[in-house]
Amino acid sequence: MKKSMAILSMKCPRCYEGDLFINHSPFPLRQLHKMPEHCKACGLKFNPEPGFYTGAMYVSYAINIGLFITSFFALYIGLKLDVVTFLLIYGITLLLLFPFVFRYSRTLFLYLFYDYKPQAKQDYLKSLHLYKHAS
Ligand SMILES: [Zn+2]
Repeated sequence: MKKSMAILSMKCPRCYEGDLFINHSPFPLRQLHKMPEHCKACGLKFNPEPGFYTGAMYVSYAINIGLFITSFFALYIGLKLDVVTFLLIYGITLLLLFPFVFRYSRTLFLYLFYDYKPQAKQDYLKSLHLYKHAS
């Protein structure tokens, strides 16, 4: 799997296999933020330290700036809508996109800190096997 596909499908940054979120769908919204503690495939900790995802707010901010600029050029300049209509459509779009912006912010933030390691899954399985035999 390519990195872009792994990001789009919200997979683990180290093995591109394990899901980053417990529910594949962002609904119900109450469970939107729920992530497994570890990657099921390679064991990577998805919450390396308390408050780790506070930094994802900066990614979210950048995505929202991008959305604003795109909407501004498409609706206000392109379609020549008045300011109130533009802000109304933009606001509704932001609300509808919120679950996706939230999850992609976390996904991209995690990808800033971890690189793909093709052997991560085998190493994890090996360590589990060793652990089982040591205890
Ligand atoms: Zn993984």
